[in-house]
Amino acid sequence: MLDILFKRGTVVAPSGRFRADVGVRDGRIALLGEDLGAEAGELVDAGGKYILPGAVDAHVHLSMISNGVPTADDYFTGTRAAACGGTTTVIDYAAQRKGQGILESVGARIDMARGQACVDYAFHCILTDLHGGALLDEFGAAAAAGITSFKCFTVYKREGLMMADGDLSRVLVAAARHGILTNVHAENADLLYSRVASFLADGKTSAWYHYLSRPEFVEAEADRRVVHWAKALGVPVYLVHLACAEGLEAVAEARGQGFPVYAETCPQYLAFDSEVYKRPDGANFVCSPPIKGAASREALWRGLRTGSVSTVATDHCPFTLAQKAVGHGNFVDIPNGCPGVETMYPYMLSAAQAGKISLEKAVEVCAANPARLFGLPTKGAVAPGLDADLVLYDPDAHVTVTQTLMHSSTDHTIWEGLSLTGYPERVYARGALVFDRGRFTGHAGHGVYCKRVPGGALR
Ligand SMILES: [Zn+2]
Repeated sequence: MLDILFKRGTVVAPSGRFRADVGVRDGRIALLGEDLGAEAGELVDAGGKYILPGAVDAHVHLSMISNGVPTADDYFTGTRAAACGGTTTVIDYAAQRKGQGILESVGARIDMARGQACVDYAFHCILTDLHGGALLDEFGAAAAAGITSFKCFTVYKREGLMMADGDLSRVLVAAARHGILTNVHAENADLLYSRVASFLADGKTSAWYHYLSRPEFVEAEADRRVVHWAKALGVPVYLVHLACAEGLEAVAEARGQGFPVYAETCPQYLAFDSEVYKRPDGANFVCSPPIKGAASREALWRGLRTGSVSTVATDHCPFTLAQKAVGHGNFVDIPNGCPGVETMYPYMLSAAQAGKISLEKAVEVCAANPARLFGLPTKGAVAPGLDADLVLYDPDAHVTVTQTLMHSSTDHTIWEGLSLTGYPERVYARGALVFDRGRFTGHAGHGVYCKRVPGGALR
């Protein structure tokens, strides 16, 4: 006997959509087919609705302290927000402290999230210190333990996160050998520091100068350089939160030549342009890399349609209005990050309904591709045997985003006033109802840590 049977839904996959009933048993998808007659504890009429895989947000920052400022969301509130937006898996970051190992760094984060998370989770390990090269010897153990992605920075030199070019190239090669995908945050550190210094010297301190201190070329140069190395070294690379047209051109060219180069972008780069930094609430949009000009925004949409953008993730990193206001007199002091984990899937699906991309593409970039690239074979699709991470999506719902509807613990959203066509009606995480028509119905501790499978970027 099934636990739940969804009748007469339309399942959406990257390759197309089809009418189907979906049967769930013990947290997994047990049956998929037309007119299933099986008995079930609960029947859900999915007529006129889409049955979508839960989104996999491969870029969130929960319980993080950035320059001494803690993010508004912890593992409970951040994953509660995720669940309510149809995101049933999040991948956060475990930053390696100097001297620490990889398993040690990730283990500490697993301990923080355990018992708190409402949806399943995993961690990319941020590498900051190769221990003179000795850390490379731990890569095999990391892959075997299910840590299949690293993140490296070409920026945040003063914060101790930046990795020197030579070290980054060693990581790329050694990681690839173990099927680990290296994520890179690419911007040019020296260029942006020097631009920041000259703006501050001129008394130019508003949020607009956050953008001008790291505009298109400051990111594009670093994007191009990282792509160039990956090609030369013959290894995969994944650029996180790519936000500029010129960087995307380098990715598109490499992909056209058959190289395993991947770009992630975020909804804030697709919905807004740099003009937001001139608004009175411009500080709320401060994230890094900054939101670029309209030409980049349009290029990113084209990149989604043509396949040069592989994934959409949020970089969810909310701060409160009071925390953001600390940077009122100086953009350097604005904590970097915006809320987004709850609005990502609804926004992308609504954009699909409006014709910007197809619904299939929205499912591909928000669910299927991140699951594949990051080694989560039981996530990202509606298919027998996979986790019953399901979104019952009502394409005819109309929702205007406002803070009171959101489930993050921050006190504002940059998505305020956004008008959406279609919205999740119900969300299931491994078969458990976690969101029901506007209400969070999950609980802390439902989410479990996902041990991942290496080699996703090469399959
Ligand atoms: Zn980030």
